Amino acid sequence: MRVFKFGGASVKDANGVKNVVKVLQEVGYENTLVVVSAMGKTTNSMEAIVDAYFNEKANLPSKIQEVTEYHASILKDLFPNKEHLIYQRVKELFDEVKGFLAWNKSPNYNFVYDQVVGYGELTSTSIISAYLNEIGMQNTWLDVRTLIKTNNIYRDTTVNWEKTQEQISEKVNKKVLNITQGFLGSDDNNFTTTLGREGSDYTAAILAYCLSANSVTIWKDVPGVLNADPRYFKETQLLNKISYKEAIELAFYGASVIHPKTLQPLQRKEIPLHVKSFLNPKNDGTTVGKGNGIEPKVPCFIVKKDQVLMKLSSLDFSFIVENNISDLFKLFHDYKMKVDLIQNSAISFSVCVDNRFGRLQELLDTLKSRFKVVHQEGVSLYTIRHFNTEAISSLQNGYEVLLEQRAKETVQLVVK
Ligand code: ASP
Ligand code: MG
Repeated sequence: MRVFKFGGASVKDANGVKNVVKVLQEVGYENTLVVVSAMGKTTNSMEAIVDAYFNEKANLPSKIQEVTEYHASILKDLFPNKEHLIYQRVKELFDEVKGFLAWNKSPNYNFVYDQVVGYGELTSTSIISAYLNEIGMQNTWLDVRTLIKTNNIYRDTTVNWEKTQEQISEKVNKKVLNITQGFLGSDDNNFTTTLGREGSDYTAAILAYCLSANSVTIWKDVPGVLNADPRYFKETQLLNKISYKEAIELAFYGASVIHPKTLQPLQRKEIPLHVKSFLNPKNDGTTVGKGNGIEPKVPCFIVKKDQVLMKLSSLDFSFIVENNISDLFKLFHDYKMKVDLIQNSAISFSVCVDNRFGRLQELLDTLKSRFKVVHQEGVSLYTIRHFNTEAISSLQNGYEVLLEQRAKETVQLVVK
């Protein structure tokens, strides 16, 4: 059996839903489980509802109205018959959201978030399942919350694999077309939990693992995994094959390929992951699987913009590494700076960090009491996997290189 995943962008409007139908018709849909995200940017809109509930109650009705109208317009395009039961079903789902918020007594933001935000996926899958049935593609709608069991750390939950396996073995009929939600699970009290933003790929991997599926396909608006982000690079190339290990390496350096969490369960059972275009479903796209490296073997470029480069040296010319390195890493951790790269010499230590939580000034103040600190903001970190001289010089031309570090397969450049 196969697991498919369609993201929000692929079902952002009625045409998107019709295109899902086209993909399924082209590639077949027997023994298939389809995981779907919330439509378009619905998860952001659901987050805005939660935010209004806690911080700006007066805005709550209009925020709910916005999401309701968005789905109503998609429904109108897909179901000309206004008496269709799906209209009632979608209304019920939004009534549940309103009811929950009206009765809720919990001040726990993360708990409320998980109870509310998941309605994006519950709604999208209800609409898609009904539409498929309507046009004669019989399918079973599954509530993924009855399948994926988790702990109760809301918004960042951990899967209980044993219980999940039990539920899936018991409840999923592999022989039919199943439609279910990405992103969601439930705890021991059956409260909804979420797997973290962009968690639907991980859902597909969890289900594939427990079903021992033959493959997972993520359908995207790009032809597959490219060797560079087309937003920043003019020439990009499609990668045909990537090994699990290489995909994890690329993700580690910041490529938004596929989240390592998604790869782990697949790698354990050696289930191949296909990344394909939902516009050209017959094209091969990219396969992540067993094996080595990448194919074709071309340099892969990963860029992280808006990083901070710091050079620290000791005030008294003592060796910085031996005496201070563990303290330094503790500070980076405490101030939530993700360390991208380090380089040290006898008396200085350079580090490139991601100031994601905006706590740079606080950190600098602390550091300056103990070290001489020179820092530069707004630098970019380029990583090239499988580099060659041409790839490196393509970056050296036009940028000022502040720091360079080479390993066997990887070169990293901090540039301004
Ligand atoms: N809908 C969720 C999000 O936007 C999960 C996903 O799309 O993977 O984060
Ligand atoms: Mg989404």
